[in-house]
Amino acid sequence: MSEDKRTELSKLGEFGTISHLTKNFTNRQDSTIFGIGDDAAVIERNEEEFTLISTDLLMEGIHFNLMYMPFKHLGYKAVAVNVSDILAMNGTPEQITVSMAVSNRFPLEALEELYEGIRLACQTYHVDLIGGDTASSPSGLNLSITAIGRVKKTQIVYRSGAQPNDLVVVTGDLGGAYMGLQVLERERSVFEANPAIQPDLDGFDYIIQRQLKPEARQDVIGFLRELDVLPTSMMDISDGLASEVLHLCKSSNTGVRLYNNKLPIDTQTSTTAIDFNLDPVTCVLNGGEDYELVFTVSPSDFDKIKGNPHMSIVGYMTDISEGHYLVDTNDSLVPLRAQGWDAFQ
Ligand code: ADP
Ligand code: MG
Repeated sequence: MSEDKRTELSKLGEFGTISHLTKNFTNRQDSTIFGIGDDAAVIERNEEEFTLISTDLLMEGIHFNLMYMPFKHLGYKAVAVNVSDILAMNGTPEQITVSMAVSNRFPLEALEELYEGIRLACQTYHVDLIGGDTASSPSGLNLSITAIGRVKKTQIVYRSGAQPNDLVVVTGDLGGAYMGLQVLERERSVFEANPAIQPDLDGFDYIIQRQLKPEARQDVIGFLRELDVLPTSMMDISDGLASEVLHLCKSSNTGVRLYNNKLPIDTQTSTTAIDFNLDPVTCVLNGGEDYELVFTVSPSDFDKIKGNPHMSIVGYMTDISEGHYLVDTNDSLVPLRAQGWDAFQ
């Protein structure tokens, strides 16, 4: 480090920083099949299978606010978001480790609630808690979870396998978790200005649940197996659809067209967005934390996917020379930009 040089992390952004810091690393082990750059790392397991590993860090005040995030929900969500990364490789999650740094501001009872949420998620996703680490923290609560899973070599799905003309499919509906957060934040500021006013969360139950208790789409991975559809590329939607689709395009070296009027959005999400003077489409494209899946399938799988209530076909991949665009309601092309969550912006 030279003495006078100082580069702000925001200049590179989260992904630029990661690639800058890791660019001089080379893999030495034959068992390292794929390292940095997908939802999970891929390691040789046996002749038929790979092991998958993914890790996530959750910081109080950045990733969650304990004013409205109950400990039990926090525990559940922390596990769900890690499980989601294993599923995004078309894998089966099997184990987790949980590490936490915790300040003496929290009593045992709070941590019991946290672990009750972790236990419930372990039950839902059929995973075992097999270890972790515990340390003290000067003030906040920080959680780091690692998920481990397995996948058949013939079934693994990377971000990089999409081809031009493949259909882009998203599960569930999008933007809800983001709008849930807007409602919770609004009620928090009302409460902080006047603690006598009780939060008014009536009519926002679905989007608040999307924010506080997201589910990883283990069911969809099962449906795809039943339909005998193997996606050509896939990732989970943690940072907003636009950002994630651009990741798929970058890894697969493709362009994309997404259709504005095909994007799945719940009525509660769109009415709340309009209440907040936000464009519902912007919430779908850039709102994070829905933990749905976005994947591509070969056009020959169209009949198996179309009409499925859990999946929406939102566009298609193109040659990279055709660029990355959203097709507006009046058929005009709007450049697709990643304005989702970036840790350093
Ligand atoms: P996801 O959103 O799916 O959890 P990330 O966007 O956090 O994935 O990370 C992208 C890739 O960069 C992953 O392969 C991850 O393991 C890797 N990565 C993230 N942070 C670091 C780091 N500090 N050092 C090395 N690799 C990292
Ligand atoms: Mg992911």
